[in-house]
Amino acid sequence: MSGQGGEFGLIARYFAPLAKSAPGALGLLDDAALLPTSRQGVVTTADAIVAGVHFLPDDPPETIARKLLRVNLSDIAAKGARAFGYVLTAAFPRDVTPRWLAAFARGLKADQAHFGIHLYGGDTVATPGPATFSVTMFGHPGKAMVRRAGALPGDLVCVTGTIGDGGLGLAELRAPHRGLSPAQRRFLVARYRIPQPRTRFGEALSRFASSGLDVSDGLVQDLTHIADVSGVRLVMRSEDVPLSAAAAALVKADPGLRARLLTAGDDYEIAFTVPKRRLAACKAAALKARTRVTVIGTVEAGQGVAVLGRDGKALALTGGGYDHFRSR
Ligand code: ADP
Ligand code: MG
Repeated sequence: MSGQGGEFGLIARYFAPLAKSAPGALGLLDDAALLPTSRQGVVTTADAIVAGVHFLPDDPPETIARKLLRVNLSDIAAKGARAFGYVLTAAFPRDVTPRWLAAFARGLKADQAHFGIHLYGGDTVATPGPATFSVTMFGHPGKAMVRRAGALPGDLVCVTGTIGDGGLGLAELRAPHRGLSPAQRRFLVARYRIPQPRTRFGEALSRFASSGLDVSDGLVQDLTHIADVSGVRLVMRSEDVPLSAAAAALVKADPGLRARLLTAGDDYEIAFTVPKRRLAACKAAALKARTRVTVIGTVEAGQGVAVLGRDGKALALTGGGYDHFRSR
């Protein structure tokens, strides 16, 4: 990183411009920043991404930056909050180039503008290992933070957007699927590289959801968290899970794929439960935010998640979901 004034030159050049509109960031010239608070507190979440694990080392730096922000924005949205800022810890390989850094900063800038967020601070280090980035994102909750706990028997289970595209996009980059149009391929890869956090819908979530979470490690595994923490059983119908046109085309050619999409990762959608009397409010919010919302099941007394197939019988799913520490 020589020739750019080292660590401090790098911060001043690439990161300080991203902080200039947030008074509490103090121009990234102090030891710490001041976050704007709210009466309901500040919803806080962190997500790290590692080259070779969450992105491919030769992915475009802009999309790495945007995915880094978006995976965190998705968590904030799932909590019914509106994101306002973040801090960034960046571990760059020593040979990172000014060109790479400039593109990375451009990606951050573009999504900051798109989502109305600002950089409040962070840390910058060099690493002998793969590039690693950690973002801690802050948001202000709506009525209250939407929790994983709170689902009650009788509630409906819902999900935003479509499921399985991100996982298919990653698979597509590794080995192209047969029978897809070029536009479908581009769509799936874009869903993997640049997820669409449901921020507008998320801001309304606290008005009707009884529980909610970010779907990032596989729909079924993530729903298990709601079931466990809420102390209920979730029963969902595999055929009701919304698929994109590209994913539906692949499922048509290989019906067994449908179940595998339920355990693929990288969806960055919101799964949530709604009391039946609030479904109309939920649908109105979805329309306003132009976000697709689909009812995929019901909450019952009991425990765990059951996925029913077309014949109404429970499917035996393998794969569970993504777990960084599971031996493979
Ligand atoms: P410290 O000595 O406490 O580690 P630094 O010298 O690393 O502080 O950081 C100086 C300022 O630059 C701080 O305001 C810090 O928040 C900010 N900063 C450092 N790295 C980053 C980064 N990657 N993104 C945003 N701000 C950063
Ligand atoms: Mg530091």
